[in-house]
Amino acid sequence: MRDEHRELRELLGAHALGHLEPAEAARVRAHLDGCAECRAELAEIAPLAARLAAVDPDALDGTPTPPPGLGAAVLARIAEEERRVVPLRRAAVRRRVALGAAAAGIAAAGAVTGWLARPVPDPPPLEPVTVQAVAPDVEARADLVPHTWGVEVKLSGRGFAAGEVHRVAVTTEDGVEVPAGEFLGVGPQPLDCNLNSSVLRADAVGFEVVDADGDVVARSDF
Ligand SMILES: [Zn+2]
Repeated sequence: MRDEHRELRELLGAHALGHLEPAEAARVRAHLDGCAECRAELAEIAPLAARLAAVDPDALDGTPTPPPGLGAAVLARIAEEERRVVPLRRAAVRRRVALGAAAAGIAAAGAVTGWLARPVPDPPPLEPVTVQAVAPDVEARADLVPHTWGVEVKLSGRGFAAGEVHRVAVTTEDGVEVPAGEFLGVGPQPLDCNLNSSVLRADAVGFEVVDADGDVVARSDF
């Protein structure tokens, strides 16, 4: 029985494919009636055998033909690979860009270091001066910068009428008022304004801020 089992078991595939001689097929069927193990194995083999039987033997001769739909499947697979690979390439590009930016940053840092290392003339000293507010809302202070070309007035304050043109003039020792520029008032907002005059610091004795009506709203006497 076990020998028969071993022998016939090897024929199950051929049996499933219907390739056995009638006598052998009869022996296998007889064995299957009494052998659950072989019936189970045949049950597993049968679906594969059915698919094998569906293959046209003529198609196996000559040039293999891709099954219909394979082209589409391959294209889909390629597209999937592209999706998987392209982001990596993009990431690589981003890395290169990041490296480029890092290199640029290093170069910039070098430039800044060079800039910091270059001899820097001492900044001109700021000379703080008091500013007298004439108009009620005005608060102001100023620093003078004595340039070779004239005195600069760095005016900080608030309360200059919003939208109104204010003119600044530096007063010389001789009492001449020399225009130093103008600015628009921004009301209660803080205002920082640099005004340049052609009067040298040594010749300047003060400045005035005049509003659009010609009224002095702030003045300073150095
Ligand atoms: Zn068996």
